[in-house]
Amino acid sequence: MTEAARHDLIFVGGGLANTLAAYRLKAVRPDLRLLVLERGARLGGQHTWSFHGSDLSADELAWLRPFVVQSWPRQEVRFPEFSRILEVGYHSVTSQRLHEVAAEALGGDVRLEAQVDRIAPDHVVLADGRRLDAACVIDGRGMTAEAPLALGYQKFIGQEVRLAEPHGARWPVIMDATVAQEDGYRFVYTLPFAEDRILIEDTYYSDTMDLDADRIRARIGAYAQARGWRIAEVRAEERGVLPIVLAGDIEAHWRGADMARTGLRALLFHQTTSYSLPDAVRLADALAARPSFQAGAVAAFTKRLSVRRWEAQRFYRLLNRMLYQAAAPAERYRVLQRFYRLPEPLIQRFYAGRLTMADQARLLVGKPPVPLGRALGCLSDRSGWSFARAGAGEAARHG
Ligand SMILES: Cc1cc2nc3c(=O)[nH]c(=O)nc-3n(C[C@H](O)[C@H](O)[C@H](O)COP(=O)(O)OP(=O)(O)OC[C@H]3O[C@@H](n4cnc5c(N)ncnc54)[C@H](O)[C@@H]3O)c2cc1C
Repeated sequence: MTEAARHDLIFVGGGLANTLAAYRLKAVRPDLRLLVLERGARLGGQHTWSFHGSDLSADELAWLRPFVVQSWPRQEVRFPEFSRILEVGYHSVTSQRLHEVAAEALGGDVRLEAQVDRIAPDHVVLADGRRLDAACVIDGRGMTAEAPLALGYQKFIGQEVRLAEPHGARWPVIMDATVAQEDGYRFVYTLPFAEDRILIEDTYYSDTMDLDADRIRARIGAYAQARGWRIAEVRAEERGVLPIVLAGDIEAHWRGADMARTGLRALLFHQTTSYSLPDAVRLADALAARPSFQAGAVAAFTKRLSVRRWEAQRFYRLLNRMLYQAAAPAERYRVLQRFYRLPEPLIQRFYAGRLTMADQARLLVGKPPVPLGRALGCLSDRSGWSFARAGAGEAARHG
């Protein structure tokens, strides 16, 4: 069965990247007939997406503003040997706000609980058998388990809690690594949303994907208790097992793919932090600036952006390999502790993905907190790796 209306663009998946792209297109190109198909009951799932103020330009931040639930003027990191306050803003977008703002702007262009079973450059087939046609279909269904990547993982559970008394925290602590180091680099991340409401996230830069939810929840409780915070209510919980890319084959990822892709599906994310919000904002602008939306051209366009972004992150993958392979898991925190002693503009450029050659040299010279022999063994970005299925947690290195 085919629905009569033909769309200019169908976005498959109403997650972060596709929702922002559709929202931006609706504002800049109201003439286009858009459709977002999301299998869930809301756009965006259950997430808090944050970003550093220096990740986006003023223009980008201006159109993203309606999605931002909270902004702080500074952020803090804590390590066993030192703490530091960074005078750079931090902003958070919640999936609830993403849904409210985008659903209102897009109106009838969003269909929820719409599971797409088959997808092609110019049409999709829904689970109920209906076929929908479009000049271009955009695949934003999140990370594919087949991506040819060798990975470490950033895994976490975060609980947004209401406390019995005010917590006294005034800005985000994006890494509190003074906690016991276990299962790789462990830190607690806190976002104070109101004087008695705070997100507490227990995070691990780990070799494995498994997440022992009960254990991690107990640790969140213990962290709160150690800070003198009494949890009155757990308002929401989110969890993630995010990819930290050690190496991969970008050409193989796109081989045979004839679809336009966005977000994690296009590997458009920061490969050391897994943050994808700034990439999603830039892709939304890039799509909105396109003169036409013929499927083949849009697919080639998103592939070009993805390959360019991949190549620009070669150095980040090297750092990841040094973190995951040269540093013993319990010593990984030293790599971050050293990093956070560097000048603030360099730290900002690191997160924004704009490291200069001089920055890269600065990150590598001096006394590395990992054994040099093992660090040198991490140099290859491509050869010697077996790219296990990204979702399977079996990334391995030969030899
Ligand atoms: C809990 C959590 C917190 C995170 N925090 C941050 C952060 O602070 N900052 C940051 O920048 N990044 C963060 N990330 C990382 C990354 O930005 C997110 O994973 C982001 O949501 C990825 O965007 P996406 O659009 O590629 O995929 P998603 O947002 O995962 O969207 C994919 C969507 O496609 C839908 N879908 C899949 N298959 C189908 C189908 N067949 N039919 C219809 N719909 C389908 C899914 O239901 C989903 O809604 C976080 C990730 C998680 C999991």
